[in-house]
Amino acid sequence: MQNNEDKFKKIIAHAKEYGFVFQSSEIYDGLSAVYDYAQNGVELKNNIKNYWWKSMVQMNENIVGIDSAIFMHPTVWKASGHLGAFNDPMIDNKDSKKRYRADVLVEDYMAKIEAKINKDISKARKRFGEAFDENEFRTTNGRIKDRQSKIESISGRLYGAMEAEDLKAIKTLIEDLEIVCPVSGSKNWTDVRQFNLMFSTQMGSVSEDADEIYLRPETAQGIFVNYLNVQKTGRMKIPFGIAQIGKAFRNEIVARQFIFRMREFEQMEMQFFVRPGEELKWFEHWKKRRIAWHKALGIPEENYRFHDHEKLAHYANAASDIEYQFPFGFKELEGIHSRTDFDLSAHQKFSNKKLQYFDPELNKSYVPYVIETSIGLDRMFLSILSYAYKEEKLIDGSMRVVLAIPPVLAPVKAAILPLTKKDGLPEKAREVMNTLKQDYLCQYDEKDAIGKRYRRQDAIGTPYCITVDHQSLKDNTVTIRDRDSMQQERIDISKLSEIIKEKLSIKFY
Ligand code: ATP
Repeated sequence: MQNNEDKFKKIIAHAKEYGFVFQSSEIYDGLSAVYDYAQNGVELKNNIKNYWWKSMVQMNENIVGIDSAIFMHPTVWKASGHLGAFNDPMIDNKDSKKRYRADVLVEDYMAKIEAKINKDISKARKRFGEAFDENEFRTTNGRIKDRQSKIESISGRLYGAMEAEDLKAIKTLIEDLEIVCPVSGSKNWTDVRQFNLMFSTQMGSVSEDADEIYLRPETAQGIFVNYLNVQKTGRMKIPFGIAQIGKAFRNEIVARQFIFRMREFEQMEMQFFVRPGEELKWFEHWKKRRIAWHKALGIPEENYRFHDHEKLAHYANAASDIEYQFPFGFKELEGIHSRTDFDLSAHQKFSNKKLQYFDPELNKSYVPYVIETSIGLDRMFLSILSYAYKEEKLIDGSMRVVLAIPPVLAPVKAAILPLTKKDGLPEKAREVMNTLKQDYLCQYDEKDAIGKRYRRQDAIGTPYCITVDHQSLKDNTVTIRDRDSMQQERIDISKLSEIIKEKLSIKFY
């Protein structure tokens, strides 16, 4: 059986081989943590965006969309706290010259202890068989108890130091644990320093009057500074929401795991403006709505879980992540945050402009509270690929690689395949293609044996293959093959578009 690391490597290789994701600037050996979406990737990405946009903007009469600029006035980032506090602690190894996130070094150390615990547990499970009680084993086995308490003590020191922004204490912790650089193997560390995650650049062509501006690290601030413009021009009444899809940039110190953590990525964010005091009710509402959106795709429920935050960011009074089980474990896919009035009040203070809403029902003005739903488009893309990639053994003993992408998100919806290249079949297939491409992205393919053509479509996740054969010329029917079941049915060409529409339909939440 292949392990998850192997599966992840295969997914990355498949994404490249079949035109989903390429490393940026590959001919120059690539740019770290920056990726390009290829011909199939961009379709999948656009379909995810559409699925999100429809469910937010089309399905909710009180949510509208915007598309704000990536560049914003530099004071935005002072007000939002990103200039002062959007930092990660970093540390360099003087021998290898490699840079690490100091907290990640300690977290990796804890993960190793955790792995030892898990190894002991799985050994014991094998030994005791049916009778094994994991809980009892954890609470009674001396070695496991020692290891668990070591983890607790390290995590207490780490998160305490992070909270207090005590960089010296983080360094001392790394020294006490005798953590070595994975590359040089040495303990020759620099001090821990704060590293701001925002990319900056200069605006203005003459350097003397140049002003330092930033590439936005989140799309949310473009919504906050526009909320009153939208409210007034759209005659919106609280509660209402503003949705946006766009690029965000973070100079991540440790960028790894393919498109999971990138330096340039895309977010789909929605800020929902509510009456103060009603935010926790809306927080629960959006948690339910968002998980339903994920589950409607038909991916197994056990692949998702909530992780409620105990430690909250300075601006939040409730926060929960939707985590997805990636090949490298459960990790954050989407955040749902109750951001209070932190951002709007800060912008009111820094801009000296009133950002209050007049509530006609209450007959008073206030700064609204905000519930945010924020999902990384690239992480959503990776979750779909991770679920979809399957290696299947067929009845005849051969293997196929299939991407079981939910049909509504699949890059190409149908392939039109003449059984042979002669007898007028290509002409008939072209007719079908010309009609269907009015409604769906289709591919026409007449090269190679039909089985090989099916495999090519399976590998990019095309849900339906339509084969034009000799019978088609006689009675105007074709066969339609379902990607997952590989079953074929014969249908009238005039009904094709309608049948595909039915198959692609999805209920929006
Ligand atoms: P993490 O803890 O993984 O760094 P975060 O808590 O900083 O994420 P948020 O600031 O809440 O993330 O951003 C909202 C969403 O944007 C995340 O849930 C994630 O899907 C996505 N996201 C954040 N950083 C990145 C990144 N570097 N690359 C790709 N997606 C990202």
